[in-house]
Amino acid sequence: MFENKQNRTELSSIGEFGLIEHIKQSVKLSQPGSLKGIGDDAAVIDNGPGRTVLTTDMLVEGVHFDLTYTPLKHLGYKAVVVNLSDLCAMNAQPRQILCAMALSNRFSLEAVEELMSGMLLACERYGVDLVGGDTCASGQGLTISVTAIGHAQEQDLVYRSGAQVNDLICVTGDIGAAYMGLQLLNREKKIFLENPGVQPELQGYDYLLERQLKPEARLDIIQRFKTWYVKPSSMIDLSDGLASDVIHLCKNSNTGCQLYEEKLPLDHLTVQLGPELGLDPTVAALNGGEDYELLFTLPLSEYEKIKDRAEVSVIGHMTDAASGYRFIDRQQNVHELKALGWDAFKS
Ligand SMILES: [Mg+2]
Repeated sequence: MFENKQNRTELSSIGEFGLIEHIKQSVKLSQPGSLKGIGDDAAVIDNGPGRTVLTTDMLVEGVHFDLTYTPLKHLGYKAVVVNLSDLCAMNAQPRQILCAMALSNRFSLEAVEELMSGMLLACERYGVDLVGGDTCASGQGLTISVTAIGHAQEQDLVYRSGAQVNDLICVTGDIGAAYMGLQLLNREKKIFLENPGVQPELQGYDYLLERQLKPEARLDIIQRFKTWYVKPSSMIDLSDGLASDVIHLCKNSNTGCQLYEEKLPLDHLTVQLGPELGLDPTVAALNGGEDYELLFTLPLSEYEKIKDRAEVSVIGHMTDAASGYRFIDRQQNVHELKALGWDAFKS
């Protein structure tokens, strides 16, 4: 992708236009609808008949990521994936992205290349084109803003508002692992800062670290929905945590919900690491966030279509709004589900 150079090239030595030209040379377009990419005043795309679906997400150093343990390549990958995940949550096919970056002089051309190689890897993996963006200087730190463009037929779009009472609540993959990975990284960072000679103890937990540092969007699932003849009645991606995100579905659909602790899909490493970190794996699943799995609802009549799918777990059902948001623990005690998920404006 980029030539591997060991030296440090200051961004100031090539300037903004030099940087854009440099990035442009490593970008290839694969979507037939990407008519004009980087290099003019704006990109031009042909999205054909249907609906255009748009989303944008910003990642700010010190708020959303910590470069002491986040490799730049992973960060670039994640910045793209979190946006594609939002398009998947609409049941839309991602096609193009735009990317804007603010960079302080701490970052060299080689660092930007690392970041870009992660972004372009995600583009390649998900079949999307980088068609434009912006770069500028930042007084401090790194900010990345990605905008993603997707496409869907009107009848395929899935909103948060379509769930009905008695619909099954389903989740893909496993949940809570990304938060466990984050806690593990924070623990090792603390140990390292107190005693820089100590090697981090991260062996055996690759899966949890990967869930935090290099998440994936479930484009595979929305493609499978078509082959399963399944269309969710409502859907959201799990970015803030199951509790917060299921309440988003309920509020938009005017329903309540009932979730069962025993049904939550937890990876064995999430369960294993919990006690070591003093963290209940269920709490990680409910409030941790950043799993980027899909949470969706289906009419009961569709149960046969998904009951034997390993990728999907049924974790509860929708109730009437007056019943509120209920969580049944393993001892059958009833709790009120609260949205304690990460909130950009509360912390
Ligand atoms: Mg989302």
